[in-house]
Amino acid sequence: MAFSKLALTEPVLKALAQEGYTTPTPIQQQAIPFVLQQRDLLGCAQTGTGKTAAFAIPILELLQAQKPLGPGIKVLILTPTRELAIQIDESFAAYGRYTGIRHTVIFGGVSQHAQVNALRQGVDVLVATPGRLLDLMQQGFIRLDQLQIFVLDEADRMLDMGFIHDVKKVIAKLPAKRQTLFFSATMPPEIQKLADMLLTNPAKVEVTPPATTVEKIEQRLYFVAKKEKPDLLLHLLQNPEIKSTLVFTRTKHGADKVARMLHKHQIQAAAIHGNKSQNARQAALAGFKNGAIRVLVATDIAARGIDIDELAHVINFDLPDVPETYVHRIGRTGRAGNSGLAISFCAAEEKDELRAIQKLIVKTLIVVEDHPYTANAHSAAPPKEERQRPGFRQQNEKHHQQKNEHTQHRLQQRPAHKPQQGQQQGQSAARQQRPAQQQRSAQQQRPAQQQQRPPQQSQRPAHQQQRPVLQKQQVQRPPVQKVQPQTGDTASKWVKDYPDDERW
Ligand code: AMP
Repeated sequence: MAFSKLALTEPVLKALAQEGYTTPTPIQQQAIPFVLQQRDLLGCAQTGTGKTAAFAIPILELLQAQKPLGPGIKVLILTPTRELAIQIDESFAAYGRYTGIRHTVIFGGVSQHAQVNALRQGVDVLVATPGRLLDLMQQGFIRLDQLQIFVLDEADRMLDMGFIHDVKKVIAKLPAKRQTLFFSATMPPEIQKLADMLLTNPAKVEVTPPATTVEKIEQRLYFVAKKEKPDLLLHLLQNPEIKSTLVFTRTKHGADKVARMLHKHQIQAAAIHGNKSQNARQAALAGFKNGAIRVLVATDIAARGIDIDELAHVINFDLPDVPETYVHRIGRTGRAGNSGLAISFCAAEEKDELRAIQKLIVKTLIVVEDHPYTANAHSAAPPKEERQRPGFRQQNEKHHQQKNEHTQHRLQQRPAHKPQQGQQQGQSAARQQRPAQQQRSAQQQRPAQQQQRPPQQSQRPAHQQQRPVLQKQQVQRPPVQKVQPQTGDTASKWVKDYPDDERW
């Protein structure tokens, strides 16, 4: 089927041809006619299926048909991340380049100045993330009373990121009479409830689940010692066929280290993660897209929503903690019908993670044995289950016992006039002067129960009596919150809750 069969007008068809689009993707084939009929739509599709064009193309057509357009925002697209917002706005720019339809994008984390200026010029299509939209609405820069079409993109991710309340606040401000297009990769009950509330007699379209996409991706596994991973990466990048490559690391620090290492070896690379400014991330992404940067090193969260055409290679420098993340990562390649290659490095310490991944994808990854770093591949620290084996634990305990004895011995050798830190701070001068050994033997003579009990305050000198209180204040910390592991779709919420976590 060709785009010309979808009753599109010349300006849009011309732009699509320039983009190199010849045939609509399945979601486009299904969704475009419904949107053109001005029906509400429930689309079950994820990034990578062509869903942006599935709503952008017919929206442009509907606006074209109304020309000349009056003032006011006519279309609002709400999306969870800055990266997605920018990409959607770029899609409107690309597909709408011959339509004269005005569009802009707003998102948080940057100054609002330029965004407010763009809004003042007049906008037909506004792409926004929820927080900045609400903010600018509250400041009176945005009115939605002329709105005709509302698109809620990646609704399930909105929920995961904790944006659902903001989304509901926005919805409350929309005119009741409107067309609503609702997209979500998954339909958990809360999202289904939201869809039921928002949509009137919607047309439903669904595209192939992610597993099918993953099947098109060739997956290879390299066993390699942790410390030799950089060398293996350099070795693989000697192959000129590996052009633009997305490399995943588990931590921000790891991403920086890999990018620096590649730079040192004259390979154009950039790292993107949560510590980088929005501008730095955009510059890195732009450089990667235009080919100036060959290797983009990213943490999982930073890479979410990045859409790069024809990304042929993904390298898992570290295996992810959570197996679902593996599927998300390799789904960055093999998009829009292309095939892809996903390479994973696995150190001996990561065999548990590998097992979990293979279980999830119900597949054993093909191991590449023909590489220069096989010799030490299995000889790093023993994998977790080995560390938990009774024999290993006993051995380990023996080691710790020996270490403790050695420390005790060294402490006994310390000259008596050289007090230890704890003694300096809290003990009376007389006690500090007692030789260490003497102190210990006095302690040993006390009954065990008494040794464990804290000393009675009334029996201690005044400055010591205050100490426990002080100690307590010093060690007081905010309550420990349990950090959720980084799963594909809870990851973004986790970023919001724990912005300083090393993995973001
Ligand atoms: P999306 O799912 O909207 O993020 O789109 C995924 C990628 O597919 C984007 O890079 C689009 O440029 C590309 N794409 C969308 N529709 C088509 C099409 N009909 N033909 C070729 N590429 C497309």
